[in-house]
Amino acid sequence: MTDATASDAPTEARASTRCWVCGSTDTRPWRAGLRADELSSDDLCITDTRYGTTLSLDRCGDCGFRFASSPCLDQLGALYENLEDPAYEGSQEGRRLQMRSLVGRARQAVPTAVTALDVGAASGLLVAEANRAGLAAVGIEPSRSLARLAQEQNGADVVCGVLPHPQLERRHFDVVFLVDVIEHVVDPLTLLRCCMDRMAEGGSLVLVTPDMSGLAAGLLGSRCWHYRLAHVGYFDRRSLEAAFERVGLEAIGWHRPVWFFPLEYLAARLEVYLPIAWLNRLALRIPPLEWLYRRVVRLRIPDSYVVVAKRAEPSE
Ligand SMILES: [Zn+2]
Repeated sequence: MTDATASDAPTEARASTRCWVCGSTDTRPWRAGLRADELSSDDLCITDTRYGTTLSLDRCGDCGFRFASSPCLDQLGALYENLEDPAYEGSQEGRRLQMRSLVGRARQAVPTAVTALDVGAASGLLVAEANRAGLAAVGIEPSRSLARLAQEQNGADVVCGVLPHPQLERRHFDVVFLVDVIEHVVDPLTLLRCCMDRMAEGGSLVLVTPDMSGLAAGLLGSRCWHYRLAHVGYFDRRSLEAAFERVGLEAIGWHRPVWFFPLEYLAARLEVYLPIAWLNRLALRIPPLEWLYRRVVRLRIPDSYVVVAKRAEPSE
């Protein structure tokens, strides 16, 4: 982060803005964050562990959506193009299992699906898992580095860019995945509409995003791992439903994701909350503990939603 210092200015000092989801002007400064004139690509890394560090956030009085208020938001697009995240590349095993579980969820929801698009495909793990499950899958990813990795490391067909994209303009998919993406964009409704434009007749959207009214956010408050610089929009069920209604989507299933992490990865991140740094250091020196730390654990934490949605039926 360049030129960023923790803001101690009262939150009331900032002007209110229009809600990105419902359009209400009943928005209030909700949480003071970093006063950032300039962000760097490193601030947006998927593996960033500065949990609790955000831009300043406003909250909508009508739909409850919380969203960033900062002059540096217009830099986000260019920053994602240049994003490189070597630590992400090193945590593929658990993520691959998570993507497999999401593909399974989609196959359950849409058993007849034969094609899939992953929007914000990162290194192509979901595309590869969808292919493995028999779907003809394509991804789209803004980071040049991750899109290249998708091709080279995972053999995934990932277009570099964002929607709408000329290479995908005429193509439609039975399932469109939007996994941990909507919380990164300043115009979530346009993103949802772009995804709907790529959905085939009768197609489904499978969306994953943190639930900011969920157990993790409730227990950890402002230190919750979902509060991070890369997240500029914070949803819960109410604001997601408001967003769906605005664009003409209807949720047909609300689920909790299954996460898979190497214990080592989880333990390193838990250092933010628990005094276990000594244990993590020790684990590197004791072979049985080191072996244990390399195991992948399966967790179902109610910290995010997996929502399956379809186009809403036009009302009579
Ligand atoms: Zn709102």
